[in-house]
Amino acid sequence: MQYNIALVKGDGIGPEIVSAAVVALEKIGEKFGHTFHFADYLAGGCAIDATGVPLPQETVDGCLNSDSVLLGAVGGPKWDSLPGELRPERALLGLRSVMGLYTNLRPARLYPALAGKCPLRADIVARGFDILMVRELTGGIYFGERGRREGPRGPEAYDTEAYSRMEIERIGRVAMAAAQKRSGRVTSVDKANVLETSRLWRETVHALAREYPDVTVQDMLVDNAAMQLVRNPGQFDVIVTTNMFGDILSDEASQLTGSIGLLPSASLGDGPRGLYEPIHGSAPDIAGTGMANPIATILSAAMMLRHSFDLRAEADCLEAAVESALNDGCRTGDIAGPGEPAYSCADMTRAILARI
Ligand code: NAD
Repeated sequence: MQYNIALVKGDGIGPEIVSAAVVALEKIGEKFGHTFHFADYLAGGCAIDATGVPLPQETVDGCLNSDSVLLGAVGGPKWDSLPGELRPERALLGLRSVMGLYTNLRPARLYPALAGKCPLRADIVARGFDILMVRELTGGIYFGERGRREGPRGPEAYDTEAYSRMEIERIGRVAMAAAQKRSGRVTSVDKANVLETSRLWRETVHALAREYPDVTVQDMLVDNAAMQLVRNPGQFDVIVTTNMFGDILSDEASQLTGSIGLLPSASLGDGPRGLYEPIHGSAPDIAGTGMANPIATILSAAMMLRHSFDLRAEADCLEAAVESALNDGCRTGDIAGPGEPAYSCADMTRAILARI
């Protein structure tokens, strides 16, 4: 089979980690007899420098005409003082919106080989965890009305959280379907004791749960969820939540796995095309040193194989190669223990390729 993949490498470590995922995909293509065609598009700070805007129309068109999109990361200190609509992050929100990507899947599992990197107590680590965070991606406070105004006590700013029943229902269905393929448990995270949007969220999820008798649904307030994630992460299977709560909780979950450099994500809409990216940012502090961990991006490519192209054996093979490299002690700087040699991005990529 042939697949057209749009590459949005972005800024900082983006180009090196996306290049690592490209060679991994090429190796998978060789092994399983597929051809992946890659085309580069600009977004983020590099697009601002080249074209004056964070998301050029050519990038939007290229992504919409591809079978799927692999993104590195955007942003960096160089563009931090630009006004909101010109910030590199607008490119991400814009792409998610034009591609209709309302679901963000963020798996967070503890690799046994990295148990020592988990910052939790040994007895909690011993129980392990494998969580799928299902985050709503195109609604809520990140997309609501915002602004500045003059208030009675001087200048004010406001951001608005709004959710429709339809938006909650469609993300809820994704979570229920995912749970059916896992251990059948969904934790729906909200702040229903305070927020009206959360009360609609809860009502809608409860109504939906009646259609999925094989799934156990539990509500949890977001502050409790933040605590339970560090107290007993093994209790969770699928977590479904809003855009902002999901953003925060998935970063918390990422730290439990040992490094943000390990965690992939998939952003999906109604069709097979998706946007796949590591959950971390452009890591300006290590950009240009060759020390970035490519695993999150390589695992994002594996998610693309599974979710967009339905190439399950290929995805399993790539994920197994990553796990095997970790089991054999290959470590980039972010996951190396004291005294352990740190692999460069290129070394780690070679180690994974060798195991495909
Ligand atoms: P970050 O995720 O870029 O970095 C946080 C820390 O994790 C840094 O110490 C970094 O070196 C380390 N890290 C991240 N990825 C790594 C990897 N693959 N290998 C090894 N170490 C890694 O977060 P930040 O520093 O808060 O943000 C930097 C820039 O990235 C900002 O401009 C921010 O807006 C942007 N950002 C972009 C995205 C995105 O494109 N999706 C997401 C988050 C942040």
